[in-house]
Amino acid sequence: MDQDIYEDMCMYGRFLENRGLNLSSHSGNMSVRRGDCLYIKRRGAMMGALKEQDVVETRVEEDDSGVIIASTEVGVHRAIYQNTSALAVIHAHTPYAISLSIVRDEIVPIDDEGEYHLKKVPVLDVEESIGSKNVEKELPEILRDYNAAIVKGHGTFAHGENLEEAYNWITVVESICKVIYLVENLGGETLKEGGW
Ligand SMILES: [Zn+2]
Repeated sequence: MDQDIYEDMCMYGRFLENRGLNLSSHSGNMSVRRGDCLYIKRRGAMMGALKEQDVVETRVEEDDSGVIIASTEVGVHRAIYQNTSALAVIHAHTPYAISLSIVRDEIVPIDDEGEYHLKKVPVLDVEESIGSKNVEKELPEILRDYNAAIVKGHGTFAHGENLEEAYNWITVVESICKVIYLVENLGGETLKEGGW
């Protein structure tokens, strides 16, 4: 494995933890694609303190290498790489996005920066949302058109050309959801015409 993959994963894992973008300490996951290889966070590894052995090498196409210790979401990561142009994926248990996804079917930004980046944030509603075949099937279809989406009640998935881009989308979506939450708590209007 290239040292830069490991160093990037450590750095963005720390950023997610330090900015409160991932709820519980050992949850969430991230991966990087290099050709046919897939490097992914180890199952149950602590997001904010990743070590070299916490990055597992496996394949983009389904095979058994590394899968036992890879993230429970390895199937979802593979499906995203197989069906989109993604080269890096981050999944985090983002508190504001999770909360808003429970009460809304899709999320339309109301702040200027959010509107600048995204017209809307899709919310995927599936019965089983953790490491599930339903998410593997339906999420990549959404992520072909969007860099980020929220799996209802579970968390944000974002992708890009590298981990920095995926991380940026995680922060953009969480900021959009946080502003909506804050404005609602101030008694402001957050439902847009033609929205949900
Ligand atoms: Zn998750």
